[in-house]
Amino acid sequence: MTPSTLCPVCKDPASPVTTVSDSFPFCSDRCRDRDLGGWLRNQYKIGSRPVESDDFADGLGSEPEIEP
Ligand SMILES: [Zn+2]
Repeated sequence: MTPSTLCPVCKDPASPVTTVSDSFPFCSDRCRDRDLGGWLRNQYKIGSRPVESDDFADGLGSEPEIEP
């Protein structure tokens, strides 16, 4: 009995029996590297995203005028 797992990258069935344990649940080392690379890139993007200051600056320059 082998639980069928789909490779998260290419959606091919990845079996723990026929797969190198290091790459599971991916079907191959290539797919594992692809997924890991994309994950790292996303993390890097999120971590280094510049703070949006447009809204803040805009709010300071456009205070609503209160009429008497
Ligand atoms: Zn794959």
